[in-house]
Amino acid sequence: MLPGMAAITPLEIVKRTPKTNCGECGFATCLAFGAAVATQGVDVGRCPYLDRQGLTLDTPAQGAAADRDWALVERLQRKVADLDFAALAPKLGLALLGDQALQGRYLGQEAIIGVKEVRLNGRAPEDPRDCILLYNYLAFGGGAPPSGAWIGMESMPNSISKVKTLASYCEEPLARLFDTHDQPKIERVIALLDGRPTAGEGADLACILPVLPRLPVKLVFWRAEREQGVTVFDARVKILFDDTATDFLDIESLVFCAERLAERIAELLGARGQE
Ligand code: SF4
Repeated sequence: MLPGMAAITPLEIVKRTPKTNCGECGFATCLAFGAAVATQGVDVGRCPYLDRQGLTLDTPAQGAAADRDWALVERLQRKVADLDFAALAPKLGLALLGDQALQGRYLGQEAIIGVKEVRLNGRAPEDPRDCILLYNYLAFGGGAPPSGAWIGMESMPNSISKVKTLASYCEEPLARLFDTHDQPKIERVIALLDGRPTAGEGADLACILPVLPRLPVKLVFWRAEREQGVTVFDARVKILFDDTATDFLDIESLVFCAERLAERIAELLGARGQE
């Protein structure tokens, strides 16, 4: 933030939301979201309805979080610079591009991961967390192709706290979001993210989404059931991972993958032109 520039307040963020308390950002109310943006540096992109015109995202918390994240990107760049990209490519499902870059799909975008920069659909990512995830994917070194056996995060070791985070920031917001959109529109967005339908044991939607080439996620959605205007069954989303997922990323990064997936779905469902 420039000296003398006033920090943005929670209310200034709230004013830019539709104030519907829809919960798609992972917070129960728009005010809670506004407070989290202003004081904790939470990404404003979590609200797909927020009016970003003229918004300067340089709260102290936002600035500090972004600085920390970009510093981590630089550390990861130094870490991957010594890797043998030609040997890594097949183990990560990526294509070799020159000596020190790999290319492949990431959340429906064309990603180029080089030792000096990342490009998504030809552009530098605005969010450092995308770079962190992609460099971590390289640093892990890859492994065998996905087995096709799906497990919940609760089946992974030392994941108790992460299960709640996954529910709060991915499964619950997605359930509320999907429940307010019709099926064809959701399916169009899933296709934009390279997703494909799969068997869903009685679910209203089940699909496999390749967050990264060797890191597919299975998403299963059940719509809310209502009788005479009363909800008898809340909408629900369950995220499953291939049982090889921890060969490719640590649990924290896997939660972030699911979070980023939820944000991309929210962006695309909220985007004009997707109607
Ligand atoms: S997604 Fe936006 S509109 Fe919905 S609760 Fe969060 S801040 Fe409010």
